[in-house]
Amino acid sequence: MENESSETGQPGESGETWAAGGPGDSWRTLAAAQQPDWPDRREAAAATRWLTQAPPLVLAAECDRLRERMAAVARGEAVLLQGGDCAETFGEATSQGVRGKLRTLLQMAVVLTHATALPVVKVGRMAGQYAKPRSSPVESRDGLTLPSYRGDAVNGAAFTEEARTPDPWRMRRMYEASATTLNLVRALTTGGFADLRQVHDWNKGFVAGSAAGRRYERIADEIDRTLAFMQACGVGLGELTSAEFFVGHEGLLLDYEAALTRPEGETGRSYAASGHLLWIGERTRDLDGAHVEYFSRIANPIAVKLGPTASADDVLGLIDRLDPAREPGRLTLVVRAGADRVRDVLPTLVEKVTAEGARVCWVSDPMHGNTFTAPSGHKTRRFDAVLDEVRGFMEVHHALGTHPGGVHVELTGDDVTECVGGGNAVRTEDLAQRYETACDPRLNHDQSLDLAFLLAEMYRE
Ligand code: PEP
Ligand code: MN
Repeated sequence: MENESSETGQPGESGETWAAGGPGDSWRTLAAAQQPDWPDRREAAAATRWLTQAPPLVLAAECDRLRERMAAVARGEAVLLQGGDCAETFGEATSQGVRGKLRTLLQMAVVLTHATALPVVKVGRMAGQYAKPRSSPVESRDGLTLPSYRGDAVNGAAFTEEARTPDPWRMRRMYEASATTLNLVRALTTGGFADLRQVHDWNKGFVAGSAAGRRYERIADEIDRTLAFMQACGVGLGELTSAEFFVGHEGLLLDYEAALTRPEGETGRSYAASGHLLWIGERTRDLDGAHVEYFSRIANPIAVKLGPTASADDVLGLIDRLDPAREPGRLTLVVRAGADRVRDVLPTLVEKVTAEGARVCWVSDPMHGNTFTAPSGHKTRRFDAVLDEVRGFMEVHHALGTHPGGVHVELTGDDVTECVGGGNAVRTEDLAQRYETACDPRLNHDQSLDLAFLLAEMYRE
């Protein structure tokens, strides 16, 4: 067990505890896929009790504001940009790690805002992305079989029995790492780091240093001229010195989410206080399962991942359970069909959902349907496949007259070599150089900006 198994300290009397047996617990009688097998139930109960006493990480009013922003996405009046690590780690909840991701997302957002002339709703896949679904509960190496790594919220990545044994006190560390990250995000987005002129200067640096930069020069020049024009007109640039930024993660670990569910005083609605936007993964969207039940009881804006096998009936069932009031901004459908399938499977889903009258946001996750193993053994993705899936997603929406609501990507601000291709191309033989992800391969800083500029072109076509 990890160091804190005897921890009993409470973070203080918040008066906002969630009573067991309340609406946040109705999932407990249902099958919950992808949950850890805590070795000691009493320790797990003690850890979740600690969490029930902890202050919320986000407030209901912030979640409501994001729901309003997502309603604009659903109406075709805004675009979502969501990104961050596949799996955050406690070790990477550092100033440098958070700054890098934030900076990358802000740079992408400026390009997309200019290209679409729409507000870009920015959501980090950050400050809570610590629990992972796995295709197998165990992993074998050299004759030894151990539990799979399920994210830092559950166990350690090292292939030892000690590290891989689930430790419920890691949920406290998840809370604390999320709080640290969120604090930095809040400070950076309001403290000058997000100033549009600075972000644009970073973009000019990227264009100048990129092998594909000439192609992006026109967009960068246009942004330059727009900024100069505004300044010349005496438009107050005060508005542009901060950015509205939200955080979200997969709401996988139900012990954690339930313990951080808080009622909102006046309305009686409950909110997941662990992040603004939570999503249900492809492996846990069973209509009769615990995750759909839990998500049906929280008032946050939520999302569901849809893989290539999702049927129209599955999707209509999810809408009935998760958005019975057909409230724009409540539900986002994140399509991750794969570049080779998206053009086949998406039209029917969009048509049926539109016919149903639901006002959902449609978002593309061009990462998870395009993963393969390179000869070196590294799990990777081709930048061209990522781009092709987004293009397919856009084509389907253009053909049907619906709004391509944005993208959800795995990225980092670092110069890693995890996905192949891009303007400053990473080659298959480069993968070993800086392969640092705790789970799936991420776009590096340059590849992320390549994606933003190419997406900008697609939105303007
Ligand atoms: C993920 O987002 O890291 C993930 C596991 O995605 P999916 O549920 O779409 O497979
Ligand atoms: Mn992933």
